[in-house]
Amino acid sequence: MPPTPDRRPVLFTGGTVLTMDDQHTVLSDADLLVVDDRIAEVGRGLSAPDGAEVIDASGGIVMPGMIDTHRHMWQTAMRAYGADWTLTQYFVWYYLEHGAKFRPEDVRAGNLLSAWDALEAGVTTTVDWSHGLQTVDHAEAAVDALRAVPGRFVLAYGNIQAAPWEWTADPAVRSFFDRNRGSDGDMLGFQLAFDVTGDPAFPEKAAFELARDLGLPVTTHAGVWGATNDDGIRLMHEHGFMQPDTVYVHAATLTTDSYHRIAATGGSISVSTESEQSAGQGYPDLAGAPSRHPRLAVDGHLGVVEQRPVQRHAHHARRRPLARAPRGARGGRHRHPLAPARRAGRRLGDPRWCPRAGPRRPRPPHRRREG
Ligand SMILES: [Zn+2]
Repeated sequence: MPPTPDRRPVLFTGGTVLTMDDQHTVLSDADLLVVDDRIAEVGRGLSAPDGAEVIDASGGIVMPGMIDTHRHMWQTAMRAYGADWTLTQYFVWYYLEHGAKFRPEDVRAGNLLSAWDALEAGVTTTVDWSHGLQTVDHAEAAVDALRAVPGRFVLAYGNIQAAPWEWTADPAVRSFFDRNRGSDGDMLGFQLAFDVTGDPAFPEKAAFELARDLGLPVTTHAGVWGATNDDGIRLMHEHGFMQPDTVYVHAATLTTDSYHRIAATGGSISVSTESEQSAGQGYPDLAGAPSRHPRLAVDGHLGVVEQRPVQRHAHHARRRPLARAPRGARGGRHRHPLAPARRAGRRLGDPRWCPRAGPRRPRPPHRRREG
């Protein structure tokens, strides 16, 4: 259970208040009074009620809590690994090599750190895109950590170590939801998290059916350069699984047809601009189709603490999406996923990106053909 809130009134003074009213009014040097769990008053020169806690908000922003629609919280246990990696490098490290070794207590530790980190950053609602749940014990550990932190969370249950149609068929997963849903009010919600490969046989159908049986929204990485594409969207649409509560993560390399399908079915797009730029997932085409609902997300804690020079990180970040997005956005055939990174590596002379990079061998002198 979340801790009992302090019931003293709280007065924030002298802040820049984003009211989020219909006119998007911003008040500078303003006060905001909270009584119980409600905003009682906003304005200038408010007086503090008896016993109120007064917080000097000058130089700060006072606003409603932010909502993060896609964060792999378990990975925060390895925070800062991968700030300037390509997506392929991320997959190898986090999915194949080290994610598979995570124990339930490791997932719990990652979630705890990530949850507190979110709150400290002003994010009061976080979707935990939890694709490290290899067993139900991992899931219990994840949810245990979310309950221990006084924020609002949604556990998006996933398991990257098994196919969606495999892990969703496990009766223990269904029991997990029976056991855990409904006891935390609006402080804890649930989704199902899995990706759609585009296989024409649409094996993910079984996972969508579990979501429908349980009344759970689905969140899915869609339009990720070299990983998921328009075929997944089309299959979801043809089988009737694109719902208003479906969340499409990244949606960075889809064609207009897919964006229209998302818009027509009322779904939302979750945009993680930093990871899309730095890992080369492509540019989301947010101006391409009407009535879409972009949401913001952190994705992973890969770049929070980075020991490599920031300038180089920024340099890569600028180059990768430029190298990749147009080809993916046109829906053309992709070459090897590492090809753009290798091209960039050659330009930068960075051997991590291109084994053949480095000082050029002097060319042999040009021989004139004698004849
Ligand atoms: Zn993700």
